[in-house]
Amino acid sequence: MPAITTIPQLVAAGLAAPDQAAVLEDVAQEFRVLISPAMQGAMTAEGVARQFLPDPRELVIHPEELRDPIGDRAHEPVPGLTHRYPDRAILHLTQTCAVYCRFCFRRETVGDAGTLPDAALEPVFAYLAATPAIREVILTGGDPMVLSPRRLGAVIARLSGLGTLDAIRIHTRVPVVAPERITPAMLAALRVDIPVWLVVHTNHADELTPDARAALGRLADAGVPLLSQTVLLRGVNDTPEALEALFRALYRLRVKPYYLHHCDLARGAGHFRTTIARGQAIMAALRGRLSGAALPTYVLDIPGGHGKVPIGPGYLAQGPHGWTVTDPQGRTHTYRDPG
Ligand SMILES: *Cc1c(COP(=O)(O)O)cnc(C)c1O
Ligand code: SF4
Repeated sequence: MPAITTIPQLVAAGLAAPDQAAVLEDVAQEFRVLISPAMQGAMTAEGVARQFLPDPRELVIHPEELRDPIGDRAHEPVPGLTHRYPDRAILHLTQTCAVYCRFCFRRETVGDAGTLPDAALEPVFAYLAATPAIREVILTGGDPMVLSPRRLGAVIARLSGLGTLDAIRIHTRVPVVAPERITPAMLAALRVDIPVWLVVHTNHADELTPDARAALGRLADAGVPLLSQTVLLRGVNDTPEALEALFRALYRLRVKPYYLHHCDLARGAGHFRTTIARGQAIMAALRGRLSGAALPTYVLDIPGGHGKVPIGPGYLAQGPHGWTVTDPQGRTHTYRDPG
């Protein structure tokens, strides 16, 4: 089964009605379409289909929506490298992914120029060597795991060899959306002198097909520490039940849920955004109902490149006689600091 990249293929696969083809062509002109074979196989699940099927609502652009919602381009000391926090930097190795998600905050650039050429990597390595305060490099994209194990492995080995890094992190959707890429060669590419942490992007338990679960198992068996990140998406996972199922499944798969992202202000993704109040209510419902180790931190990437912050819910307020703490049942208690 080949990947779907065009509207006629989508119609032929029965995933779009023929009378929708014209408007979906307009959508595809703006934002690329790519549905991997693995995700085509999971399309019967609504929580999966909505993430990948182009939708006429993407043509509705709200004034607050941004081309670079989290301000990556504002902190780029050398092309391809985003250095916003002192101790870590993001390396955009490629703009290509194994799927194109309809809500992606990098949707303006994914699919564009392809892979950073080797020559462009030299200034990146030079900057990192000259900036030992950077202790961690986060490989992202696009999706770095669409690269061949040989090429990805060469970058990882080079980074490890710098001698200044504590760890390398890879942000990827591949183990879930293209699990066949997690081969012995890929596992070998991740084995260097410093730890390589993998942060898997997954939004719905129905994405975790038997093949995806097996791929995550291979990674865990190879000793790769696994975290997950999830985007809170209206109509996909914005209920306590949907997120509980996802986080429980990940926990069983030896993946620690790390971040739940509030949806960014990507252009044409307004129909995916829900309110922060709803996100907080979902997190409050999960607290106490789900193992603390299976609960991610709910975060917002402040639009304009001002960084990521936890956005609650809050359990603590300054009261007249010390702190007022709210328990999971909503009752309040007082806590006094020493002195
Ligand atoms: C999200 C992000 C990171 C990583 O942040 P963590 O909180 O360490 O996961 C680093 N740099 C930039 C520019 C980011 O947007
Ligand atoms: S895989 Fe990640 S970078 Fe690629 S389209 Fe999806 S969300 Fe965006």
